[in-house]
Amino acid sequence: MKKKRIFKFSFRKQVRRLQESKNWRTKVFRRDGFTCQVCGVTGGYLEAHHIKSFAKILWDYKVSTVAEALTCKLLWDIRNGQTLCKKCHKKTKNYRRPKKRRRYGQIISIRRTK
Ligand SMILES: [Zn+2]
Repeated sequence: MKKKRIFKFSFRKQVRRLQESKNWRTKVFRRDGFTCQVCGVTGGYLEAHHIKSFAKILWDYKVSTVAEALTCKLLWDIRNGQTLCKKCHKKTKNYRRPKKRRRYGQIISIRRTK
């Protein structure tokens, strides 16, 4: 069970790193005129949000390899994308926080894995 989760996570990461992923993001931004579709802010730090979540697409289409991801049309369909600023993106329900960054002054609790 645990192994599977780790595998899935790294797989998603691989897909996000693909050139196609970057192209998709750029296309979404261009279509929306680099404007947040929720609050209307232009420029600054913008993110391309998947309306149907990335994870759900992978799950629904049973995509488990990078090669399969490349042939999955919905994954690269800009109609499934929406430009959001960071603030609005955080409010979406399928927003995933990037890996926690360790900072000074932050209390870090270390949880041991069983
Ligand atoms: Zn916004």
